[in-house]
Amino acid sequence: MNELHFGCTRCSACCRSSIPLGIAEALDYDDSFLLALVFSVETWNLDDFSKNRPATPLSHEELLTALAFRKDKLAQDPSRDMVFRVGKLKATGERVATFITAGACALGEREAGAARCAALDPRGACSAYERRPLACRVFPLDPLFPEMLQNVPLRALGQRTGCDTSEAAPALWRDGKIIDPDAAAALAARQETIREDSLFLPFWGLASGNFPPLPGLSELLGSVKGNGKVDLPFAPALVYLAAAGRITAQRAEECLERQMALAARAVEEAMARKDKSERARTTVLRNCVALMAGLKGRVADAAAGLAAITD
Ligand code: SF4
Ligand code: SF4
Repeated sequence: MNELHFGCTRCSACCRSSIPLGIAEALDYDDSFLLALVFSVETWNLDDFSKNRPATPLSHEELLTALAFRKDKLAQDPSRDMVFRVGKLKATGERVATFITAGACALGEREAGAARCAALDPRGACSAYERRPLACRVFPLDPLFPEMLQNVPLRALGQRTGCDTSEAAPALWRDGKIIDPDAAAALAARQETIREDSLFLPFWGLASGNFPPLPGLSELLGSVKGNGKVDLPFAPALVYLAAAGRITAQRAEECLERQMALAARAVEEAMARKDKSERARTTVLRNCVALMAGLKGRVADAAAGLAAITD
């Protein structure tokens, strides 16, 4: 029997960075977290496996299964060919697979130079536990892997965090199946948000020119060397959701209002701390506020214009 265990010791190690969110899911948190759009890129060498440096060690066979899952289940037409590509390295001719995701995140706050979730209270407990995002409900499972391969992220867990992976902790995964039905449901829901958000890539390919000075898709992807992610202001996501009829323009305007207030407060607090390490973040926040201010009162028009281009 192949079985892996998991118990939370409340060390808060998984609450020390930004939280990945679905683009539409992000609106549930617009009153409490500063939101951003995120593009993530993974690159895998298919011919020389030794050149891959994954955070989670996995065998060649597991990698191929995980990549097939990402292509088939985490992307959808017409975005599939943008999300998952196989090309050849000019220098060596080796085949390289690239997997791109678009999504949102709740930006972490700064505390003594390090990131922390805005919902983490001073005792290190989650102040939003009952309404925490899907990614928090899913942890330590990894939505980029199918259920049968959840042993890959789980077996590396104890070395990286305070999670209890001993046999005394409850079993979470056994012989290819997640045992906890709530965890399995959260994983499926998180995977659905990734699949849904794959459609943001073709949208951004056509619409980025409407949001100067934000970079277009090729510029963004060119700025990530191999593996990495790029954060952008969240405002274009509101136009995207409104153009697709998934939220009303009024709801988008409400979100702009809340996010502008949160960003302005974060800038004020950072200025008061006079911490030089926060300068870059403060500049980004100021740019976000400027972009949101430019969009204020214009979401309905912007969405109608973009719906015409992207249909
Ligand atoms: S919402 Fe709660 S569980 Fe999620 S990262 Fe923040 S503090 Fe941790
Ligand atoms: S890293 Fe593990 S033990 Fe620590 S809070 Fe997160 S789930 Fe719990």
